[in-house]
Amino acid sequence: MNKQTMQQAATAFPVYRKKSNAERAEFLERIASEIEALGDTLIQTAMAESNLPEARLLGERGRTANQLRLFANLVREGSWVEAVIDTAQPERIPPRPDLRKMLNPLGPVVVFGASNFPLAFSTAGGDTASALAAGCTVVIKGHPGHPKTSALVFGAMQAAIAACGMPEHTIQHVDSTDFATGKALVQDPLTQAVGFTGSLAGGTALVEYARERKQPIPVFAEMSSINPVILLPEILSAQPEALAKQLAASFTLGMGQFCTKPGLILAQDCEALDVFLRTIGHEVPGLPTMPMLHGGIHAAYEKNLHTALEQPGLGVLGKTAKEVSGIEPTAAVALVDGDTFLANPKLHEEVFGPYALVVKCQSKQQIAQILEHLEGQLTLTFMATDADALANADLVELGQSRAGRVIFNGVPTGVEVVASMQHGGPYPATTDSRFTSVGSDAIKRWARPICYQNYPAALLPMELQDNNPLGIWRWVDGVFTK
Ligand code: NAP
Repeated sequence: MNKQTMQQAATAFPVYRKKSNAERAEFLERIASEIEALGDTLIQTAMAESNLPEARLLGERGRTANQLRLFANLVREGSWVEAVIDTAQPERIPPRPDLRKMLNPLGPVVVFGASNFPLAFSTAGGDTASALAAGCTVVIKGHPGHPKTSALVFGAMQAAIAACGMPEHTIQHVDSTDFATGKALVQDPLTQAVGFTGSLAGGTALVEYARERKQPIPVFAEMSSINPVILLPEILSAQPEALAKQLAASFTLGMGQFCTKPGLILAQDCEALDVFLRTIGHEVPGLPTMPMLHGGIHAAYEKNLHTALEQPGLGVLGKTAKEVSGIEPTAAVALVDGDTFLANPKLHEEVFGPYALVVKCQSKQQIAQILEHLEGQLTLTFMATDADALANADLVELGQSRAGRVIFNGVPTGVEVVASMQHGGPYPATTDSRFTSVGSDAIKRWARPICYQNYPAALLPMELQDNNPLGIWRWVDGVFTK
């Protein structure tokens, strides 16, 4: 079954990749409008399967459609292929040949749907949209947490395939709940890359499968991040209560089921920190709770929370006061001192759900030491006045070495889908910190450069032809030009 699926994806690839930029852009736009046309049925189905509220899913549907349209615009404009031309210098000694380079799609790829974004990071989510934009055919391994939602979205994609005259197997959907299927898809010799968002264990397993292949392939996995927030002294003294309320709301938002949830808060010991701790400890018990995405995530959260809270030296500042039922989580915030945090790597691990740990540091040097020892992160946030920022430029620089996105005076949970976004960071945040899974650069994961040396003009891709028929931006003999 999987063999046939990947064979079909491979057969469709050379046909799909030859579609013009305009045709591919129209196809992506058509997928967006077909998803929108599913209307309330899609929203109600996703609500029933994910426990997420209507407003959140309406927003997510908007983001999914916008993402598809963002990639449609990118493909229509065409310059994303990074065309470079170094014209021949026959008079040079030795003579220089004519050299041209651009990005080309990798081939058939496998995308694992994520559980925590049933629309925007699942079937027709960012990984699928960017891979289709690059010219790859896509096999989606649906997430078992929302099979009916996935089936509806896949139906919309099939309608777009038919309406736009794309090869039937441009996109395929595999519904399975056993690891063997995912493994077989990753290890099929025809698969050229993998996209994944989920657990560290899951992502690591996929990387291992890929390594075992005769031809290893890239696995772009987004896995685990605790998104540290550093409260600098002047801002903490000025507004400890407001910061506590802002962070409590952020780490419990959507029951903490965001890869960018701020799970670690660092600050130097001071009077204002005591006010912050008291406020966050009072805030969390009364915050509303709702069921988590599925039983597996809830069970993992309760287990990981228990493990975190039983670590020596940890004290609970506050946790959900009411009796929770079913798969509602107990939100919690805890406190530990800097020495204990540094000595216990267990405290550095992601607890996926509404939990955050505050670390009371002895000094600025201890914050720096913690940043140096922290694993790679998707984001790192500084709460700071202008004076704080200037006085702590060294910490800020250190922060850059640990994370893909460095934020000032905001919470990390919101992720804009734009060209300047970086959603990726050093391991274990992702498997390859050079790439992003959100924003237009996500397309780069699915393409590789090919250099065309002394190529017959008639065989050159349009992007590299002398007269630039697509009118794209190119780097020609060291100058950006159209
Ligand atoms: P998951 O367990 O990593 O599973 C995601 C997908 O990967 C599923 O389709 C699953 O297959 C597949 N998979 C996982 N391990 C595999 C293996 N060894 N071999 C083959 N396929 C494998 O993620 P989840 O179900 O979404 O949630 C579980 C935990 O992941 C959460 O509690 C949380 O800790 C973490 N998570 C993190 C993020 C993040 O953004 N950092 C997002 C979501 C979840 P099956 O369909 O066969 O189960």
